Amino acid sequence: MSLFELNTFEFYYFLFFIFVIGACFGSFTNVVILRAFTEESIVLPPSKCPHCKNKLKWYHNIPILSYLFLRGKCGFCKEKISIQYPIVEFVVAVLFVALFLKYGIALKTIFMCMFAVMCVVLAVTDIKEQVIFDAHAYVLGGLGLVYNFFDIGKRGLGTYDLSIFSYDFSVNKSFVYALLGILAGVVIIEGLVLICKLFVGQRAFGEGDSFILGALGAVFGYAAVPLIALVGALIQVVILLPLMIKKFIQAKKYDIIVSLTVLVLAMILFYVLLYLGLLDNTVLLYTYFAFIVGCTVYFSIKMIRSAKENPENLTAVPFGPPLVLVALGLMFI
Ligand SMILES: [Zn+2]
Repeated sequence: MSLFELNTFEFYYFLFFIFVIGACFGSFTNVVILRAFTEESIVLPPSKCPHCKNKLKWYHNIPILSYLFLRGKCGFCKEKISIQYPIVEFVVAVLFVALFLKYGIALKTIFMCMFAVMCVVLAVTDIKEQVIFDAHAYVLGGLGLVYNFFDIGKRGLGTYDLSIFSYDFSVNKSFVYALLGILAGVVIIEGLVLICKLFVGQRAFGEGDSFILGALGAVFGYAAVPLIALVGALIQVVILLPLMIKKFIQAKKYDIIVSLTVLVLAMILFYVLLYLGLLDNTVLLYTYFAFIVGCTVYFSIKMIRSAKENPENLTAVPFGPPLVLVALGLMFI
């Protein structure tokens, strides 16, 4: 049922209700993240301050609000509370509201909300400590397999009808695509790792990234996996570029900065000339194109050489969060 069928009062009341539920799940998300690091059970011990170990009172535990009225400090020892807690609570709450607006009251929405929670868990552990816990990826992948086994997303892909020992049964195609998605995720990341090892002699991504992309393959199916990897890589480049330029300036590698600047300017000029219709001449077009390819190759060689000298630069920024960001975007398409 779509939320837009509700009357105005019911609509806002329901959104508020979903926001509160989402914030509570956000609170639970923080617990899952924190206790993955401390290896505690996620249900048994009551929450306590990591600094003074006092058990939190119920009013210290209200999502988002407690952080605000405690002004970001523990109610007992006044130690600063990480801003991660209210941010995660707020982000999960907003995702829940957005998903219910998009998909209405349906089983699909509940699954989407669970996917979102696990995506946030994976992204935050990766940002905090550059770790992906296999268990988190297994939960996401497992939820994806269940979702596609029953075709809860009603993707309308049809079924494969099989017959074994004269026993007929059918499998949703979405489930087969999900299994292939796991394979595609692992193959793409390990393939990239292999290529990078060949050129630079160093793993470009952690093993955790295959877990994430594999799990996302189980959720979205194999066809979405290359797209997630590609857009994720583009986001990664945009994040990395300023950091790299800063490092090149510090290392006084001006030739790399100059070649990058020439490449970017040449690309911008290419689109301007194309827009103005000045590249209608085929010879001119191909000459210019060859120039850009030359710049790209020169820059790539310089980059690979520089990465060989400082391999630690490669793994400086985790790849998990960009992948998760693309996945969250895909949920709304
Ligand atoms: Zn405390």
